[in-house]
Amino acid sequence: MSDPDCIFCKIVAGELPATIVDEDERTIAFMDISPATRGHALVIPRVHSRDIFEASEEDLQATALAAVRLARRAKERLDADGVNLLNSAGRAAWQTVFHLHIHMIPRYREDPLRLPWVPSPGDPEEIAAAAQELAGG
Ligand code: AMP
Ligand code: ZN
Repeated sequence: MSDPDCIFCKIVAGELPATIVDEDERTIAFMDISPATRGHALVIPRVHSRDIFEASEEDLQATALAAVRLARRAKERLDADGVNLLNSAGRAAWQTVFHLHIHMIPRYREDPLRLPWVPSPGDPEEIAAAAQELAGG
């Protein structure tokens, strides 16, 4: 249920301070202490899981729905022009806190964030080979 060494579990338990902006039975959302843009918040399941691969289906569903609920509020109340919902699973994918979370990052037309990769057409054979491995159940 909870990991004694996890800072987000401590936030859920009220043992660490956080600015909570939304909660329901399964999730809470609080402001990120190092915001990428105005309104950047994190949505987490109350029950500890390391990442999307460990979480229960119910927690995945509830966390995704809560993130969209908050994204809608960011558009309405912060006048965001768009929103990025971002999840990092694993160190290689930039995860630094190992309690599942979805970043809700409001986006503004003039904000300074940029895509971390430069889109350019890939090798069709490599794309097809990866697709073959990914496709199917
Ligand atoms: P990630 O790198 O995707 O694992 O995201 C971790 C996020 O948690 C970062 O954006 C941090 O700024 C944020 N963070 C770390 N500690 C806290 C905290 N005590 N309260 C709020 N946000 C935090
Ligand atoms: Zn935790």
